[in-house]
Amino acid sequence: MNFSDLYNQSINDKQAFWGEQAKRIYWHQQPTQILDDSKLPFAKWFVGGETNLCYNMVDRHLENRAEQDAFVWVSTEINAEMIDNYPNIQKAFKALGNPVELYTDYAKRRLTYNDLYKEVNYFADVLKRHGIDKGDRVVIYMPMILEAAYAMLACVRIGAIHSVVFGGFASHNLAVRMDDAEAKMVITVDAGLRGGKLINYKNLVNKAVEEAKVKTRVLVIDRGIMPYTAEPQDIDYATERATSADNNAKVDCVWLESNAPSYLLYTSGTTGTPKGVQRDTGGHAVALATAMDFVYNGKAGETFWAISDIGWAVGHSFSIYAPLLTGMTSIIYEGLPTTPNPGIWWRIVEANKVNILLTAPTGVRMLRKQDEMWMSRHDISSLKSFFLAGEPLDEPTAQWLTGHMGVPIIDHYWQTESGWPILSHAPKFADNPDHKPHKQGTPGYPMFGFDAKVINETTGEPCQANEKGMLVLAAPLPPGCLATVWRNDERFINGYFSLLDGKQYATSDYAVMDEYGYYYILGRTDDVINVAGHRLGTKEIEEAIGHHPEVAESAVVGIHDELKGELPIAFCILKNHDLVAETENRFRIEQQIVGEVARQLGALAKPAAIYFPKALPKTRSGKILRRSIKALAEGKETGDMSTLDDPTAIEAVRQAMADY
Ligand code: AMP
Repeated sequence: MNFSDLYNQSINDKQAFWGEQAKRIYWHQQPTQILDDSKLPFAKWFVGGETNLCYNMVDRHLENRAEQDAFVWVSTEINAEMIDNYPNIQKAFKALGNPVELYTDYAKRRLTYNDLYKEVNYFADVLKRHGIDKGDRVVIYMPMILEAAYAMLACVRIGAIHSVVFGGFASHNLAVRMDDAEAKMVITVDAGLRGGKLINYKNLVNKAVEEAKVKTRVLVIDRGIMPYTAEPQDIDYATERATSADNNAKVDCVWLESNAPSYLLYTSGTTGTPKGVQRDTGGHAVALATAMDFVYNGKAGETFWAISDIGWAVGHSFSIYAPLLTGMTSIIYEGLPTTPNPGIWWRIVEANKVNILLTAPTGVRMLRKQDEMWMSRHDISSLKSFFLAGEPLDEPTAQWLTGHMGVPIIDHYWQTESGWPILSHAPKFADNPDHKPHKQGTPGYPMFGFDAKVINETTGEPCQANEKGMLVLAAPLPPGCLATVWRNDERFINGYFSLLDGKQYATSDYAVMDEYGYYYILGRTDDVINVAGHRLGTKEIEEAIGHHPEVAESAVVGIHDELKGELPIAFCILKNHDLVAETENRFRIEQQIVGEVARQLGALAKPAAIYFPKALPKTRSGKILRRSIKALAEGKETGDMSTLDDPTAIEAVRQAMADY
């Protein structure tokens, strides 16, 4: 079948299309109904079907690919030379049953499906022995190590719901997520390393445990990087694993109804509280198996590398779930794009014959600034395509990649909520006579089951070709998309489906569609910003700034940055503005604000600049005009200011920037 027939079927005959795709996975019990759309915008996929993600990702492959690598872990943070400074690392690898290979500038472990099966069973056994059961929530706060993958797989094996929190987030962020999920356990490590810099995970977890209302046990994977004192809630994983290994523990997969939650992933919205995107089980499995084939053209036995963190949706879907559902090898990389040198990505591609790469443009922008010989030194001919997502792919980066890679550079668009690509090109169908050719500068056209439109936000009318509007997706969303917001159906409806007839999912992205059906994303319609492909709510940063005793109010906006796409900058109204007349005071307050944001939210959210205007432009109803502030900060026109409560505020913002 060609792309357009399949796509049209996915929209017009959902039962037939998804019924066929459902055959990609193993069902312990076949679904009795492909789609229940009787309560839109809520959609239930594969109703009555029973399956298990871990079974589909591990057990199912033992027959044909037990000795194939499931994961290859590469770390440029750990190597033979740094071990001198951390003598316990090798002991820790041994205690964790992790026969890692150490080289001068990296460490590596190949893990077959058979090895993975064993480790996941041990991990699941440990969880069960410590009271984790079907439906319990487990927070995973870890760097890019294999134990993080075991933890995720072990959770879904026993029907527990994991919630991975990005390791770059600070303790407050972690505590908020622990409380919202009502986590029964947190899984973490003693410490991590980033560019050689120590990240004290255990300490951050201790603080979060103190701050959170919920009482949790803490399972610690001791990597031997940093000694720590055990707290009463702590459990040492290596000790527990040894017991499970001695017993050769096997834990049965728990068969879950297709709509049972598999995991929660918190993401930023327009309020200060992050929302728990809830993913189902069967729909998630079917969607990712379909996407790996139809969108990425990935096949069993091939190697996929999503250069992302497991704390993000890409890391969930394409470092862990989709490659394993398909029987591929997935690369897990702990390290920066530039260490030990800017050739590391290409060296890993060459050494592991990576077939498909997926990352955010930020990392590529970092490499583009380096000497080109780093790329030409390596044979990357195993690659068939390179996908980019998470933020706009700028023209120079796309061109640089196209010039160097010799494979299609595919910009594609998706969100944490969708879990897989909404817009993309589909190289698998490139030979179809009616196929839309690959076009640079656009993230493509809608993928299977995404009934996309660009509409005028106010009137709801569909936009003409090349007319800007909001990108919306008609309900029901296809399988794999968020089922709801964790324990907050109201937020699901109000946050995503409040437009028009209540049946259009609002992406909160501006877009245009051209006359040929290609889409272009033009930025967010809300106060969410995108720093290096990571989504941040400006409101969350404002709330963190609000903890400073001298700040009365603040507005945070994202401004364009060549490397990171966007950077947050803050405009703070002080209770006593005169304070900043003295440079010393101003410097102190700036430092304190930056420190507070880093403490609460993590380094990613730190404002790149802080200004102290006397007033902020607001409407008469008191709404801060962040878009006007952003325009001012970027030296653009502010638009119509007639609704301003205090007309001098614009000048105050201008003056504050001039004073800086
Ligand atoms: P996240 O949920 O963190 O993955 O962020 C999703 C948001 O990132 C989208 O709503 C877009 O604003 C942005 N985004 C993702 N992919 C692209 C892309 N290919 N081009 C432009 N923006 C993108």
